[in-house]
This record gives sequence, structure tokens and C-alpha cells, in this order.
Amino acid sequence: MFSKRIRNVEPSATVQLSNKVKRLKNQGLDILSFTLGEPDFNTPQHIIDAAKKALDEGKTHYTSSLGIPELREVIAKRYGRQNDIEITSDNVIALPAKFALYSAIQSTINKGDEVIIPNPGWVSYGPMVQLARGIPIKVKMSYDDGWGMTAESIEAQLSSKTKAIILNTPANPTGSVLDKETLKGIADLADDRDILIISDEIYEDLVYDDMEHFSIGSLDHVKDKTITVSGLSKSYAMTGWRLGWMIAPKEAIKMVNKLQQHSLTCMPHFIQMAAVAALEHGRDPVLKMRDEFQERRNILIPLLNEIDGVSCEVPKGAFYAFFKVDIGFNSMDLADMLLYKAHVALTPGSAFGSMGANHMRMSYAASRENIIEGVHRISDFVDGFRKDR
Ligand code: PMP
Ligand code: GLU
Repeated sequence: MFSKRIRNVEPSATVQLSNKVKRLKNQGLDILSFTLGEPDFNTPQHIIDAAKKALDEGKTHYTSSLGIPELREVIAKRYGRQNDIEITSDNVIALPAKFALYSAIQSTINKGDEVIIPNPGWVSYGPMVQLARGIPIKVKMSYDDGWGMTAESIEAQLSSKTKAIILNTPANPTGSVLDKETLKGIADLADDRDILIISDEIYEDLVYDDMEHFSIGSLDHVKDKTITVSGLSKSYAMTGWRLGWMIAPKEAIKMVNKLQQHSLTCMPHFIQMAAVAALEHGRDPVLKMRDEFQERRNILIPLLNEIDGVSCEVPKGAFYAFFKVDIGFNSMDLADMLLYKAHVALTPGSAFGSMGANHMRMSYAASRENIIEGVHRISDFVDGFRKDR
């Protein structure tokens, strides 16, 4: 009954685990969850008000499959202002960020094409490539070199079949941020070898200390071969609104628009109106949330490093601590034990690729109080385990 494609693809470890935690919580278990990458803040009120107003005005019908002109315009302007990418509305389509990545891959990858993805990297890149019948080729990154992807590490994995490179900065699950120099090196390589760049920048607003986000698509020589994906989910605490976008050469937008017309049709009108309000209002609420994430990170990382057998680098962006645990369990077993015995839900590092083995991902998009209590539970579990041995 089912296609080979869908049978062979793994479920999303992040979404699956969060479903499981929701189920356990509904059964009354007191679980502290740090699994999903989802801001705990409410969506800023002016955005909610804009959505309500749009609903009252009857903005509940289909729109252009590309998105309403006001939204595409405001996104295009934002790219000029914030990302140094000068574009027009013709370079923009509104769709959920996850679906933008899926569509970029569906629209460019043929059977047998190789696509470079990070290891460890977000759980959906590999399956998205497989669903397009491409072959994911993983570039290994390690804790010891700051989880960075470089032109050299990518070049070592290129072949005559390489069609695209997926970049993710700031990165899920490691929190690493690629600097301009590194991205320039990767752009030179992609230009040289005529490879498409798919740049997932969904965490672009969440960079800390003196780090700055840099968009590879702002480099002139790769403008025509870069697809940039981002959205409102992480920056504006709007995960459930499902509003994101793709920035790409006009021709690519036309191709992706065909997929949109045969699948989603368009984004809901009132949500697009709310997105206009979000982007027009300025970045103050985003920066406020960013500052709070940074404070939480500053509380969390030292606490984690105090636990015997745990080590964690300070992440430069996103809102995940990706820490090494050296207590003799693989990360899947440890995640299960922490969940059922300590009532703390973390995502096992191996879900993000082989280089994530013996690591755990803890999202710090949670209250300070829960973060502190969560680390106590982890620490008590690890200490208790050592005593029992
Ligand atoms: N890319 C990465 C790296 C992510 O972590 C996520 C998870 N939200 C997405 C893309 C998809 O974002 P959205 O939920 O806005 O579709
Ligand atoms: N991206 C988030 C995460 O990694 C949400 C779940 C998902 O889309 O994978 O937790």
C-alpha cells in the first residue's frame, strides 16, 4: 500500500519525541521537556491583534500562491536592510520554512544527485533529500573543532554527482555560527564547482555576544545559485503560525511556486497579514527575546559543565546546548532513562547523525526556573547512576 520512499524514511526524531512527551504529560507525569526547539514566549501582542483584525475583516480566503504582495514586499525590503541581499518581491515566496526547504530540494534534486548535509545536523535534511530520491552525503563536524563546517571539510565529500550543499547557520543542534570568512570559502567552492547552496537561516536572529549573522546569499558570485530559507517561528515565537519564506532567483521561485500550487496552494491570508505586522513593527521584541535566551544560556552551560562526565561548549547561536555525556550509555538509552526515571526530556544526539553519538540536545527555550530544575534532575540521575555502579 505504501511507497518505498515513505516506508524507507525515518520519522522526525524531534517531532516524534515531542508527541511522546505531550502524551506522557497528558497522562499526568511531571515531565520537564527540553526537546522541541520552540520559544516558550507568547507571540507579541501586536501580531496577535493584527491576525484578529484580519480575521474580522474576512481575510480568510485563498491568496496568490506566492503570498500577498504586501508581505512579499516587506520581506524583500527586510533582506536589503538586515541581510545585505538586494531583492524584489519576485525573489520571494511565502511558505512554512520546513516546507520551503522541502520544496527547494524537491525542485532541484534528481534521482541519484548527492546533497551535502551537516553531521550532526537537523533531523529533516536527510529525509527530505531521500524523499526527492537524492543521496545525503554527511560532512562530519566535531566537538573539538567547535562543530564548524568548512570549505575543506565540504570539498573532501564532493563528487561529480554533488548537486547541492545545505548550510545551517546558526545551527541546530550545535548552536555553531559560521563566520563571514568561512562562508566566503564555501561560496568560492560552490561557485567553482557549480553547486547550489541551500541556506537554512531560521535561527538568524538568535546570535549571541559579539557574533553576527551573515547570509551567504549576499555574496555576489553565488547570488544566482543560493536559496535562502527563514521565517518567523524562532525569532518571533511563532512556531505554530507556520509562516516562513524562501528567497531565491526568480526562476527558482517560479519552479517552487508550481509545487506550492499543487500542494499547499497558499498560506492563510490572516496569517500573512499578521506576518506583515510582525516585520513592519521593527525588531525590538525579537532582540528582547534574544537577550533572554542569552541569559538562559549563560545560566545553563556552567551548570551542565559542573556535572561529572558532562562537557558543553558555549553555543554561539540558536537555543540548544549540545553536550557530551561520558557515562557509558548511548544517547538513545540515556534519553529514555532520563525521561522515565528522572522525568527530563532531552533529544538524543544520535538523532542528528553519527557525530552526535554520546551527546544530548537540551533546548534552553524554556524558563530559567525549569532550566535550573532540569539540570538538577539530570545531575541527580548521573550521580545516582555512578553510585549504583
Ligand atoms: N530548520 C531548522 C534547522 C529547524 O530547526 C527547524 C525547526 N523548526 C526548521 C528549519 C523549520 O522551521 P519551521 O518550524 O519554521 O518550519
Ligand atoms: N526544529 C525544531 C527542533 O529541532 C522543531 C521540530 C522540528 O521541526 O524538527 O526541535
